Amino acid sequence: MLHIDVVTIFPDMFVSPFGESIIRRAMERQLVSLQLHNLRDFCHDRHRVVDDYPYGGGAGMVMRPEPAIRAIQSLRDGDRRGCVILTSPQGDIFSQEMAAELADENRLIFFCGHYEGVDERIRSHVDREISIGDYVLTGGELPAMVIIDAVVRLLPGVLGSAESLAEESFSPLLEYPHYTRPAEFEGMAVPDVLRSGHHQQIREWRRRQALWRTFCRRPDLLENIVLSPAEERLLSAWKADRKKEQL
Ligand code: SAM
Repeated sequence: MLHIDVVTIFPDMFVSPFGESIIRRAMERQLVSLQLHNLRDFCHDRHRVVDDYPYGGGAGMVMRPEPAIRAIQSLRDGDRRGCVILTSPQGDIFSQEMAAELADENRLIFFCGHYEGVDERIRSHVDREISIGDYVLTGGELPAMVIIDAVVRLLPGVLGSAESLAEESFSPLLEYPHYTRPAEFEGMAVPDVLRSGHHQQIREWRRRQALWRTFCRRPDLLENIVLSPAEERLLSAWKADRKKEQL
């Protein structure tokens, strides 16, 4: 079972997102366990201060190294040392591939930064720095939640059907379009093939749609994937058509 520790100054932020739906059920079924730790509990001073002024001056406060490192070391003391993750806009950009790597660990320890960031020396106690995108948030709690959500749904048994994982976006194409009832809505009809009951044709249609979507929206994803000869021909034809349009 994957065990996740989160060190944060706002543990309450995690209660509602992880108290609902799939993640809550995963915890109830003991497929994952989550423990929240208040960074202030690792302070030894009376006022439980976690931040201080930056050396050299400048705006904002910096997270102090002592409570942070004490927290990380105390969590690492157990049998399972775990992978310590610092959420940081300067880290490696989070991806589905990274989610799969983290889902293979048996313990993850998240440290959520705040203020202007963390004292640089905290970084020497961290295994990975992960960013959830090229923008700056006020704290590391939302990034930790995003990463945990993406990791937990990959754990065996968490989703009802393993098929949903095999075909979803970034595995490696973007996913094909979905439809549900009614068959016609505001003049837009569900493609006939999806109502035909012909499983082989549905599979082929979905694969082609996934390829087309990826070609239109995220051609970078097509660079390192193996396609069948027929799919390679299709792709070359689409590329040639696009070139003609540009002329
Ligand atoms: N001054 C820092 C900088 O320019 O790199 C930004 C600090 S940010 C206001 C405070 C904390 O939010 C960071 O220490 C980090 O934990 C978290 N954070 C903000 N944006 C993030 C992102 N895109 N991905 C992951 N964590 C992020």
